[in-house]
Amino acid sequence: MTRALEEVLRDAIRTIPDYPKPGVLFRDITTLLGNAQAFRRAMDELVAPYADSHIDKIAGIEARGFILGGAMAHQLYAGFVPIRKKGKLPHETVRVAYSLEYGLDEMEMHVDAVSPGEKVILVDDLIATGGTAEAACRLLKQLGADIVAACFVIDLPDLGGRAKLEAMGIDVRTLIA
Ligand code: AMP
Repeated sequence: MTRALEEVLRDAIRTIPDYPKPGVLFRDITTLLGNAQAFRRAMDELVAPYADSHIDKIAGIEARGFILGGAMAHQLYAGFVPIRKKGKLPHETVRVAYSLEYGLDEMEMHVDAVSPGEKVILVDDLIATGGTAEAACRLLKQLGADIVAACFVIDLPDLGGRAKLEAMGIDVRTLIA
């Protein structure tokens, strides 16, 4: 019998209490990535709604979004583009500032990573407050991307990230909460 995806994912994701600091329950997807069956099922589920759509690019947020995004891009015959912390990309970039719990950070994309009107899916492992994904969406919009959806394996719904993206008109897909 095939086990329900949610149960498979729950078993495959490891929770580390008090990492990286006291009070945080860190949802570690490295155990999911290392589990061939769970990884494949998660990726199949994330790409399923787009199997018959034309998607130009998958945009992955550093660093776990790179791994998920690479697998999605392969499956959907799409390109992959990285969204990185500032100072890591070698060519000319567009940059956006966003707030973290303490202070500000910046993320970047290459100016030519996406062309206006291209259909793009954003991906990261987890959405919490949505600050990271919102900043990534602002970058994609600056380049004229048509954001088809933002996909995450894990949603922490109490932190309001999904609602924040949906308020921007973005379709949000998550696999477990
Ligand atoms: P946020 O901007 O608050 O939505 O945070 C999302 C980003 O922080 C993602 O790139 C996640 O990988 C990471 N993150 C936030 N909270 C957690 C958590 N509890 N466990 C694992 N990663 C997290």
